[in-house]
Amino acid sequence: MAVASDNEEFAKSPLQPLISVEKLEQVFDLGKGQQVKAVNQVDLDIYRGETLGLVGESGSGKSTLGRAILQLYEPTSGRVMFHGFDLKQLTRAEQFRVRKDMQIIFQDPYASLDPRMKVEDIIGEALDTHGLVKNASQRRERIEELLALVELDASFASRFPHEFSGGQRQRIGIARALAVEPDFIVADEPLSALDVSIQAQIIDLMQKLQEQLGLTYLFIAHDLAVVKQISDRVAVMQHGQIVEIAETNELYDKPLHPYTQQLLSAVPRLDTQFRASDQEIKDAVPASQHVVTLVEVSPGHFVAQ
Ligand code: ADP
Ligand code: MG
Repeated sequence: MAVASDNEEFAKSPLQPLISVEKLEQVFDLGKGQQVKAVNQVDLDIYRGETLGLVGESGSGKSTLGRAILQLYEPTSGRVMFHGFDLKQLTRAEQFRVRKDMQIIFQDPYASLDPRMKVEDIIGEALDTHGLVKNASQRRERIEELLALVELDASFASRFPHEFSGGQRQRIGIARALAVEPDFIVADEPLSALDVSIQAQIIDLMQKLQEQLGLTYLFIAHDLAVVKQISDRVAVMQHGQIVEIAETNELYDKPLHPYTQQLLSAVPRLDTQFRASDQEIKDAVPASQHVVTLVEVSPGHFVAQ
């Protein structure tokens, strides 16, 4: 009884992180004895209701970190705590339930939506999988509610992804993620495939939804201006490690790590890095196994030494 109420306290406390990443490591085997350490000993807390921005050049390990947190990969070592529970220690049934609480929004809404499925089935699939609706009329009602939430017309339900613009497709991707009422969303470059004017609308929507639904975001992006606008804190990733993390204004006003300074001074270049060649990505692979130590230089501002 005491334990249960402690856990409840824990889950509700805004001072406790919603997610704690502890010494997380993700190694990919490339065959022929070659390995890539895409995430190297990362420690990271994500607080309830915040947006944590994650920046770093192509190949620095941002997507891998996001996916490893969601347990889409089995971490090589380290652990991810969610609501205070070690995700690896959960039973299969618990894992299934917890996965519902953690969703992802992808960069390319078109590639991530099955072109043969109607919008109602793209969104409805998640409702069915988790048994969230009892019958067809409940299902339809919930789908309409979700479409309204992302500011799309109910008539869109019976149409196919190719009938929509990029921004509308991203809204469908967001509705699909929200269908299961998650607490936490990894948004992996959700704006990179969109026109600038549309980007602003999607940012607006994401902020509104965050407020309305109490969502916590890990927002991965190349565009440092976008990250600055949406994030409460920003983490900078280089060679699979976090090299600096701070409250957003602090990081942009007083970047301390040379790599952060370089990123901030190279803002116009970042868009082209998004289309980095395979060679560039290989170049970004960590050359050494050196693990940095983050030191708190002022309250909440950590820099790698
Ligand atoms: P980012 O999202 O910052 O561009 P990624 O997380 O995609 O970086 O990639 C980090 C490193 O891990 C890169 O060297 C990439 O080539 C490698 N990598 C990512 N995913 C895989 C995979 N599934 N298999 C092998 N290597 C991968
Ligand atoms: Mg990526």
